[in-house]
Amino acid sequence: MPQRDYFEKDYYATLGVAKDASQAEISKAYRKLARKLHPDARPNDAQAESRFKEVSEAYSVLSNAEKRKEYDQVRELVGSGTFGGFGQPGGRGFPGGGTAGGGPGFDLGDLFGDLFGGRAGGMRARRRGDASMRGRDVETDLTLSFEDALAGVTTTLRVAGQAVCSTCHGSGARPGTMPITCPTCGGTGSVTNDQGLFSFSEPCRACAGAGRQILDPCPTCHGSGTEVRPREIRARIPAGVRDGARIRLPGKGEAGLRGGPAGDLYVNVHVTPHALFARKGDNLTLRVPVTFTEAALGANITVPSLDGPVTLKIPAGTESGRTFRVRGKGAPKSGGGRGDLLVTVDVAVPRKLSRAQRKLLEDFAATEDGRVRAHLEPALREARGA
Ligand code: ZN
Repeated sequence: MPQRDYFEKDYYATLGVAKDASQAEISKAYRKLARKLHPDARPNDAQAESRFKEVSEAYSVLSNAEKRKEYDQVRELVGSGTFGGFGQPGGRGFPGGGTAGGGPGFDLGDLFGDLFGGRAGGMRARRRGDASMRGRDVETDLTLSFEDALAGVTTTLRVAGQAVCSTCHGSGARPGTMPITCPTCGGTGSVTNDQGLFSFSEPCRACAGAGRQILDPCPTCHGSGTEVRPREIRARIPAGVRDGARIRLPGKGEAGLRGGPAGDLYVNVHVTPHALFARKGDNLTLRVPVTFTEAALGANITVPSLDGPVTLKIPAGTESGRTFRVRGKGAPKSGGGRGDLLVTVDVAVPRKLSRAQRKLLEDFAATEDGRVRAHLEPALREARGA
């Protein structure tokens, strides 16, 4: 049980931080140690594994402001000698603490009942602040290829943090036992007080509003129902997701404490650019070169699309920079259906001509007679002062 650990263990020493360390310092020390001692990094190293568990336990208390305060209070009592010799750090034996048959007239439950204002008689009282709590929201990043973002994928996300305890599956009770309905409030989590004219409800102090009590806590999580470990989450990313999108996966964040609801997981999506296609809303854009004879005479050209090659009809007299629409070959729309593929043509001018080509073009030029610039004539005349 955790309270007993509070007496015996120096979590600050375990993490190697000062008693007044900030949350950031504690997190930093924990991450450093966890990386070094993690079973993945030190396989088959029993010593590292047990150190890893100690470090995780220390962090689970010191990273939680409420638990840390409680722990500090207990440690203060230990240091002040309130409990005589038996509570010294590292000391053994705690009268009545969990031993079968009971200790010599001293019950830990009573002790904590007195210390923290519980009033559940000989039962180990759950304290105020031990109520169930929603798990924290978690954020993670996901980078997708351009094609996967358009098609949608099912992917595995890895997140660390508080997860459902793998020993008790979140109940907080030792396997084989169950939390009991709180006898003080009958499971409602609140008690009604009559004070003359007024009557008011307050959270049941015996169970801290949880409505249940854990008599025999899980040895792994000490009743919290959670443990710090990495998790893998299968997530379906919808087709057409955009770069910068933030997807919320309800209930996939950190596990709630003592049976509280889980937090949410937010996935920040990054999409890598494509070599050919770009995205413009629900449409895709593509630039393709065409020869100047294709542009002048008209042609059927083959262009790539995400569904394979498509044929695009270029009408005679197409100018460079003109954009054509291939319907239904764009990105998936959120409401169903798909956008279009917008193909912009760039008319390519040949850099080298054969003798024969040059002769043909010169003959062609002779027929043009400057007509392509006819619309400039008025401006030219004005410039000449005519
Ligand atoms: Zn557990």
